[in-house]
This record gives sequence, structure tokens and C-alpha cells, in this order.
Amino acid sequence: MTAHPIPENGHCWWLVSGKERRLHAIRGHELTAQEMRTAIDECRHIPARAVCGLRRRWWMPGLFSRLGRRRCAPCCRALVFPPGYGTPANEQDIRKDLAA
Ligand SMILES: [Zn+2]
Repeated sequence: MTAHPIPENGHCWWLVSGKERRLHAIRGHELTAQEMRTAIDECRHIPARAVCGLRRRWWMPGLFSRLGRRRCAPCCRALVFPPGYGTPANEQDIRKDLAA
């Protein structure tokens, strides 16, 4: 259940901006874990370009958004993920739970 750029997330951060309607993918190399930690500590939003081309100021979604927000369709297409809800890693966790 993570928005971090792990392989299950396509090596991307899954972040929100604006009204937090969509989770967008920002490639892991565009933003280091240290930069993310600093931004969270200082309550700053991070300017970056998402995989779909959207330039915004991003932040780490809260738990509810990580689970429930719809993923940006162009970001998913570019990363060959199915469209869906929550971070890809979280969705895989749910599937594992259902299979157990
Ligand atoms: Zn996007």
C-alpha cells in the first residue's frame, strides 16, 4: 500500500494535485526519496511533469486517496497498467488478499 516508485508501481510515484481527483505517475528518477521527504516535512508541493505530460505541483496522497482515487488513464496507458483505482501496488495487494 504505497505511492513510492517501487517496481509494482512502474518505478513511479503516484501523486495528486489540485482537487486530488486523479493519481498521476511521476517517474522515480524525476524526484528522489529525499526530495519527497523534505517536501512532506516542509508541507511543500513539488513541481514536476507527470508521465501523461501534465505539469503541476504534486504531493503525496493521503491513505484514502491512495486506496480510492482513479488513476490517470493516459499515465496508465504510457506505463502499460490497466486503468483502475488506487496505486498499482495497492491494487496488487488487494488481489493477493482475495487469492489468499
Ligand atoms: Zn497523468
